[in-house]
Amino acid sequence: MCVEKTPWELVIDFHGHTCPGIAVGYRVAQLAQREMGIRPTPDSELLVKAFTQSCAVDAMQVLNKATLGRRALMIEETQQHLYQFHFTGTHELHQIRIAQEVLEHLAAFNIEGLSPREKQNKILEEVQFVLSIEESAFCHYELIPGELKKRGH
Ligand SMILES: [Zn+2]
Repeated sequence: MCVEKTPWELVIDFHGHTCPGIAVGYRVAQLAQREMGIRPTPDSELLVKAFTQSCAVDAMQVLNKATLGRRALMIEETQQHLYQFHFTGTHELHQIRIAQEVLEHLAAFNIEGLSPREKQNKILEEVQFVLSIEESAFCHYELIPGELKKRGH
């Protein structure tokens, strides 16, 4: 039987392991997809800017097809879990900021010194927390005027 992979499985495959960070990225990427809707014109490109480099950005490479190689994913290191999504040719940014409560959860996440089994359980618990927390408690979404531009073009 051939079963198609779910978006979550595709993301985990690409990323190479299951972790809380990729769960954050998965939710952000899906929320952005929902809010942005369909591409406004065939030549419009989806660009993403992340304000910190973390596991999360790999979900945007898979689900939003904003890849590093095509320069559609830009990372500016400011240590903030803030993400902007933009369709070229438009003048708006979809901005998603991860809530403090979630960040504190992630900061407290520590699997050092645990047995492999305990580690696995702890990771799954944290992933479950990230995936199941209500959207309003997960992040703050805003539609703001602005544009992203690819570097080097
Ligand atoms: Zn990871």
